[in-house]
Amino acid sequence: MPERDSAVRVVVVHPDLLGTYGDGGNGLILARRLQWRGLAVELIEAMSGTPVPASGDIYCLGGGEDAAQHRAAAELAEGNPLGQAVDNGAAVLAVCAGFQVLGRRYPSADGQVRDGLGLIDIDTRKGGGRRPVGELVVTPSPALGLPQLTGYENHGGLTTLGPDAQPLGRVDAGVGNGGGDGSEGAVVGRIFGTYMHGPVLARNPALADLILTSVVGELEALDDSEAELLRRERLEKVGTSRVTDRSRWTARLTSRRVSG
Ligand code: GLN
Repeated sequence: MPERDSAVRVVVVHPDLLGTYGDGGNGLILARRLQWRGLAVELIEAMSGTPVPASGDIYCLGGGEDAAQHRAAAELAEGNPLGQAVDNGAAVLAVCAGFQVLGRRYPSADGQVRDGLGLIDIDTRKGGGRRPVGELVVTPSPALGLPQLTGYENHGGLTTLGPDAQPLGRVDAGVGNGGGDGSEGAVVGRIFGTYMHGPVLARNPALADLILTSVVGELEALDDSEAELLRRERLEKVGTSRVTDRSRWTARLTSRRVSG
């Protein structure tokens, strides 16, 4: 068990703006997983309109609609508390809108391209085609040592990784970054960005522990059998729906051939 003389400070950034699809729950998951191991935690919900503390150990940013996303980005640019925290060794989990905001540029509601916080080398532009919505399954980059990940995506922006960003993983089902290289999310130091909602840490406890160990060191294992059941159910669902779609498609072709 790691020794710490102070509580781990987990900061949920602007849950009132960036909290779609339960993303606010990511902070709770991190807090519970520390508490279950006997570690003290301070869970801070930093609402918009108030300064985000720069003294956190882990920051969670969730998804949001374009206008809310821009408001959060504008507030975070003032004084750059996240940048300060990252320089001091904090970890960050950023989902969807939060992920885009950490990058160099992102599309805003008014059609403008806005400057992001520039904490990770990614660039997001507005996608021209159909909005990626649905289950997302990802094989993580091998160096991360994680099992296959699952989440839910719903975004209009498409993201390209620059040379200083590594992908979180490769897309098995869904769209992910959508930049044409099959990548999903990004990892830069202790910053983890992803398009997986869920909340992603409830669905993927191994990712939660990777983020935690990057800050507090090695942790004892927990019984994650219930989350594992959910993960399998999600993976099977995606697998099943693909098979169903294909069989429906084949059936249509067959019936057309028969009737033709
Ligand atoms: N507004 C962003 C987009 O559409 C992020 C969406 C989200 O966070 N779900 O790309």
